[in-house]
Amino acid sequence: MPDATLGVVRSLSPEDLQSLGLEWLMVNTFHLMNQPGELALKKIGNLKKLMNWPGFLASDSGGFQLYSLIHKNPHLGKITDDGVVLYTGPKKQKKSLFTPEESIRLQFAIGSDIKIVLDDFSPPDADEARLEKSVKRTIAWAKRAKAEFEKELQARQKKAQQKQNRQLRQQEKQTRSLSPAQPRPLLLAPIQGLNHQKWRRYCADALLEIGFDMYGLGGWPLDKQGQFDYQLCQFNAELTPNKQPRFALGVGSLENIVQLFFMGYQFFDCVLPTRDARHERLYIFKTNPQELRAQDLKDLAEKNQLEKVFDYLYIGQGRYQHDLSAINEHCDCPICRNTQINRAYLRHLFQVKDSSAWRLATLHNLRTFQLLIEVLRR
Ligand SMILES: [Zn+2]
Repeated sequence: MPDATLGVVRSLSPEDLQSLGLEWLMVNTFHLMNQPGELALKKIGNLKKLMNWPGFLASDSGGFQLYSLIHKNPHLGKITDDGVVLYTGPKKQKKSLFTPEESIRLQFAIGSDIKIVLDDFSPPDADEARLEKSVKRTIAWAKRAKAEFEKELQARQKKAQQKQNRQLRQQEKQTRSLSPAQPRPLLLAPIQGLNHQKWRRYCADALLEIGFDMYGLGGWPLDKQGQFDYQLCQFNAELTPNKQPRFALGVGSLENIVQLFFMGYQFFDCVLPTRDARHERLYIFKTNPQELRAQDLKDLAEKNQLEKVFDYLYIGQGRYQHDLSAINEHCDCPICRNTQINRAYLRHLFQVKDSSAWRLATLHNLRTFQLLIEVLRR
């Protein structure tokens, strides 16, 4: 799922997203709390209504954004056992508390289908004591978030039942169809613990005992050299049972998705296809994805040869100045199908800083990622 942090995939309309075959978007609770805000969302109904988005939404708790904010500037707040304390106002004199409960309430206002519990993101350089603290806090917060989730769910079910009863009574007077029951949203808990197997297992065991619908790969899956840590991802996947979906939060590149899919992860969200599109980086299939089988990808993944299938290009480079070919001959996005928008023209649009360049590049990249998902699903 692409990241629609503020309720929009930059430069695209909900109709564009549907035309690419996308069904899911990831939005961000912390950012949506500021704009349009909880009150506006409640008044409108939820974010799906505001966006007119017929697909599904997952909402991130806001934990990572708060962690980054405070990590960069400790004057903006601090993380406590109660929740995240934020200092706002011109002199940072206003104090507010963002709790696991509030994150859940906001995610109900958003109306998301997957809600994520607020976690204490372990800093990558954390020592054992800090790591223990963040894992134990993550577990305690997950427990509180689940209690709030159940409370909200019951309140909503009661409201829906009352509405249905009212409709039934009305129906006796006039024939009218009942409004369909809202599907129950799913609650996800991220597993923290950095690359310490002991703490990841501890975290997973405690979360399993509380019981969630899905489990997430929390934290940075990077090893000490800063390389993507596949072993850690594999270890993390084995901590939870197969019957519950696994979400590789914030992952990843085309290669990462293939590798993690075969470890048992089914959900992915990442800024790469959209952010890279705006930075002139375009993803390419070297072979026709319609003829690819998931098994081919599995074989290549095992041999570490996925570069035989995936590539990328920087459209701003001089060598594309006179290139009238499609961005990718194997892509079926509206841009590649319609070669009036050839490489040279897309490069030109970036050069003259026309806003359509973002839109065209984003459409292409998102379709490329979606094509991969379609191969894996097949
Ligand atoms: Zn394309």
